[in-house]
Amino acid sequence: MSFTDSRRLLLEAEKILRRAVELLGYSEDVYNALRLPERVIQVKIPVRMDDGRVKVFIGWRSQHNSALGPYKGGIRFHPAVTMEEVIALSMMMTWKNALAELPYGGGKGGVKVDPHVLSKRELEELSRGYMRGIYKYIGPDTDIPAPDVYTSPQIMAWMMDEYYRLTGENKLGVITGKPKLLGGFETRIIATGFGVAVAAREAAKKMWGGVEGRTVAIQGYGNVGYYAAKFLHEMGATVVAVSDSRGGIYSSKGLNPDEVKQVKSKTGSVINYENAEKRITNEELLELDVDILIPAAIEYVITEENAPRIKAKLIVEGANGPVTAAADEYLSQRGVVIVPDILASAGGVIMSHIEWVDNRIGGWISEEEARRKLEEKMVRITLAVWEFWHSKLEPGKHSMRDAAYSLAVKRVVEAMQLRGLL
Ligand code: NAD
Repeated sequence: MSFTDSRRLLLEAEKILRRAVELLGYSEDVYNALRLPERVIQVKIPVRMDDGRVKVFIGWRSQHNSALGPYKGGIRFHPAVTMEEVIALSMMMTWKNALAELPYGGGKGGVKVDPHVLSKRELEELSRGYMRGIYKYIGPDTDIPAPDVYTSPQIMAWMMDEYYRLTGENKLGVITGKPKLLGGFETRIIATGFGVAVAAREAAKKMWGGVEGRTVAIQGYGNVGYYAAKFLHEMGATVVAVSDSRGGIYSSKGLNPDEVKQVKSKTGSVINYENAEKRITNEELLELDVDILIPAAIEYVITEENAPRIKAKLIVEGANGPVTAAADEYLSQRGVVIVPDILASAGGVIMSHIEWVDNRIGGWISEEEARRKLEEKMVRITLAVWEFWHSKLEPGKHSMRDAAYSLAVKRVVEAMQLRGLL
């Protein structure tokens, strides 16, 4: 992300906060108390490269708000990470965790690096070096990192081990998203996509009495898109279209998500699936006459430009930020329900919470129980946002996104008031 883009992301995050503060009728003092992160740590990470040179990397950990509990949020390794981006994302984690009713504040970490050009040893050195920079400020009761863009369960395992070496405390709950053998869960792989499917099902129940027989189009067939398709299919919906970066496929009678997945794994794209009626473009997919549209690929795909041509009545944001603010306003006023990303993609962090609890009680929660708890929580928070939207705001004038952020900000403000901070 360029400096301008990350500056824009931070301004966008501040705008979201300002709107929620205004909707809730809070003062400017409340806005100011929530805007800045509580702490930002910058770390310099020297790594001895395989060719003998020492290369210096830079990273950050932003701890935005701790009113509801320890900070929680992922660590990304990306060549374009900036401090502004990490700060903005830590603020968004405060709202996401609050909305998911988790006992967490918001945090985020990042290292400016392209991990794909590092050898395994260099990547391990970097991961351990980042932990050496932040370990004094994190812990199972202070700040709990997790994987994010281009970081993996293996990286979490190295970081957890470095924390043990530095502190002498072998605490599995210091980090989540770990390999199963070190306290992680296999359910994590399905968590976000499954959560998207559950949020879609609950919204469909409110709108039509159920998701059975409803038509679904999904943009993006990666981790989130595939599992959303798989579980919606199992729930009785008809997945008529899916796509990836090379294009999409359509079948009025419905696609079989697992068969499509096999073709994608074997050939690299869903477009090679031969049992579909026709191939379509990603633009056409977004404008299909379906009940439910799930953008699960990249940001800003539904904009002011194509919003007038969108026919779906329910949009569930599997990706981060696929609907722009202007399109959100336009479509919401037209009566389209948009389940916002902060709610729809909360499955990952909810699963992190289950892992953290399990680590602290000594490994007691089964995969089945984890999945049940994840589903229960997704149902509860979707209904809570729906209820808040209809009882405290005006659907048609305010979007479901307004409801989600307002509810989240309200919880954080009330926690700060209870602590005597506001
Ligand atoms: P992924 O890399 O597994 O899959 C991305 C998919 O999108 C691929 O099928 C790719 O071909 C497709 N794609 C890329 N560019 C496209 C384009 N221009 N048009 C159409 N398709 C395109 O990624 P993922 O983990 O499934 O994440 C998808 C989105 O969900 C991202 O925005 C991510 O930030 C967000 N998200 C993911 C998680 C998670 O747990 N994986 C959690 C929260 C949010």
